[in-house]
Amino acid sequence: MLRQISARCLKCKIPRCSSHCPVSTPIPDVMRLFEENKEREAAEILFANNPLSAICSVVCPHERNCCGHCVLGKKADPVEFYKIEQHLSRQFLAEYEPPAIKKKNIHIAVIGSGPAGITMSILLSLKGFHVTLMEARDKIGGVLRYGIPEFRLPKNLVAKYETILFKLGVRFKPNTFIGSSITLDEMFIDGYKAVFIAVGTAKPNKLGLLGETLGHVFYAIDYLKTPEAYHLGKHVVVVGAGNVALDVARVAVRHIEKDGTVTIVNSLLEEDMTAHKREVTDAVKEGIKFVHLLQAVKLDHDGVKCVAVKAEKTEKGIVYEEDFKRVRKIPADSIILAIGQGPQGAVMADSNVSKTHRGLVDADENGYTSSKGVFAAGDIVTGPKTVVEAVAFTKKVASEIEKYCLEN
Ligand SMILES: Cc1cc2nc3c(=O)[nH]c(=O)nc-3n(C[C@H](O)[C@H](O)[C@H](O)COP(=O)(O)OP(=O)(O)OC[C@H]3O[C@@H](n4cnc5c(N)ncnc54)[C@H](O)[C@@H]3O)c2cc1C
Repeated sequence: MLRQISARCLKCKIPRCSSHCPVSTPIPDVMRLFEENKEREAAEILFANNPLSAICSVVCPHERNCCGHCVLGKKADPVEFYKIEQHLSRQFLAEYEPPAIKKKNIHIAVIGSGPAGITMSILLSLKGFHVTLMEARDKIGGVLRYGIPEFRLPKNLVAKYETILFKLGVRFKPNTFIGSSITLDEMFIDGYKAVFIAVGTAKPNKLGLLGETLGHVFYAIDYLKTPEAYHLGKHVVVVGAGNVALDVARVAVRHIEKDGTVTIVNSLLEEDMTAHKREVTDAVKEGIKFVHLLQAVKLDHDGVKCVAVKAEKTEKGIVYEEDFKRVRKIPADSIILAIGQGPQGAVMADSNVSKTHRGLVDADENGYTSSKGVFAAGDIVTGPKTVVEAVAFTKKVASEIEKYCLEN
């Protein structure tokens, strides 16, 4: 099966698959080595280019990146490189032994252990720095562990990175929320040469409606952390139109009472939803219902009150308009709001780190912030993006931190 995939690859001289991958994975080179049975070498290239290759091969939006730009995809199915990547990189993680590393007497603090924090910890450890990884929760992973559901990303794959970090000598400091007892300034007093902020965006956006504090109304990213802690009842309404709404609905459908329903309510036409088509198809297969063109206006004890939305297709795109005369109630025992997330600014408290108007860390493309020695990358700088984009950004910043530490 995998051999058939690599045989179809044309190994293009100008590979569009690579140039549309945020970390520029050298796909033709990996394919060639794979065909020559040099799997270990191929896997080493993948890991060196992207330490989270094992994760990205599972959760990347391939249809937007490599697969979406494969030349064969114009007339037939694109080459599914990610399946080969999954095979190679899982094997590599299972057998990983770090190289001999000469340690420098330089300590760096990494705050947050999501994709950006894990990537930074691996890269800087491999360069000989002492890394302390500080994490608010008890386990590493960020959204990989406390957001993306198990059926899309097995947690034992995330756990493999605990072993890798341990083998690399990264010191993990769990249950450590930076910005309350410990501040950034104190870290420099304690001798860290640089601090890397990678705290993501875990604060749910509010809808701003009456009823948001009620006991049966939850935020999606909170719910996804520990779904087993919630009693959803029989009928659940998810408000939202993006990938997180799909994830939360697909988890909820596994936790509702017998003969219950999960309904995604949103104000858009199906074609305008930001969720990936593949996810929508999977959700439909699992029995999740969709109600489009309804705008939630109040969250009641027995359901979501909505007004109808009219959609008109114009030359400039779809124009939506609420029709306040047409009101409808969608009954619900539980309501989950999935309307995006933003930064939780505590990490920057009492520091010179500037924020953007959205409350994100104001860092440049190389991760430099307004505060000397403080760097940042991942969602806390870009706003919510993808795992591979967090890795790509972090790689650039790792080189800058190395340069900064050796020059200062
Ligand atoms: C439900 C959901 C599903 C997603 N699905 C996909 C997908 O399929 N594919 C994809 O590519 N992307 C997906 N994404 C987006 C992707 O997960 C993020 O872009 C990525 O995780 C960002 O990485 P990060 O390291 O910047 O932040 P995060 O993953 O958010 O990690 C931040 C870490 O910092 C910790 N932290 C926060 N504040 C502090 C503090 N003050 N002190 C110490 N630690 C702190 C947090 O506990 C967390 O562990 C999804 C996002 C969500 C919410």
